[in-house]
Formats: sequence, C-alpha cells, structure tokens
Amino acid sequence: MEISITLHQDAPAKPQFGESCNGCGLCCAVTLCPLGRLRFWRTQGPCPALAWDQAATRYVCRLATGKWTRRWIAAGKGCDCTYQVD
Ligand code: SF4
Ligand code: SF4
Repeated sequence: MEISITLHQDAPAKPQFGESCNGCGLCCAVTLCPLGRLRFWRTQGPCPALAWDQAATRYVCRLATGKWTRRWIAAGKGCDCTYQVD
C-alpha cells in the first residue's frame, strides 16, 4: 500500500531498520505507537505529538518527556520502522 506524507524539508533521511533512530519522523507521520493511540484514540498518522525541533533538525515526541514514556516508545533504541521511502 502506498501513502503520501509530508515531512520537514530538513528532516534526516530514514535510516535502515535497526540502525539508530535519527528522528526522521516517518513512523509517527504514518501511524501512531501504543502511547499515541491511547492518548489520541486514533491509529492513523500524523501523530499530534510529533513535533519538529529546529535546533536539533529532527522530529521529537511531545509525549516522551519522562523516563516511563520514553521507555514505552523505546526512545533511543534502533529504528523499528519497516516502511520504505520512495
Ligand atoms: S524510529 Fe521512526 S523517527 Fe526513528 S528513525 Fe525510524 S522511522 Fe525515523
Ligand atoms: S506518541 Fe510520540 S512516539 Fe508515539 S506516535 Fe506519537 S509522536 Fe510518535
């Protein structure tokens, strides 16, 4: 299935599956993680918590502010997104 999404022009390219997350934003623009689904009651992206950080030139999650939420979304772990970008 093909879908079109819009990301910031300075967003980094999506890394390969398993490589370090670079905040490209792709996963959260397409669908919501369990934390986002519970908070916003929707599955389809973009997630309302997805925010562009200009200083860091990457996307960040506005919900992942604490240790528990960061652990829940596996922040800082490898990219677990299998979507392909054309
Ligand atoms: S986990 Fe999401 S934001 Fe992080 S690199 Fe993969 S697709 Fe991008
Ligand atoms: S809650 Fe955060 S990690 Fe989960 S989909 Fe939304 S922006 Fe992404």
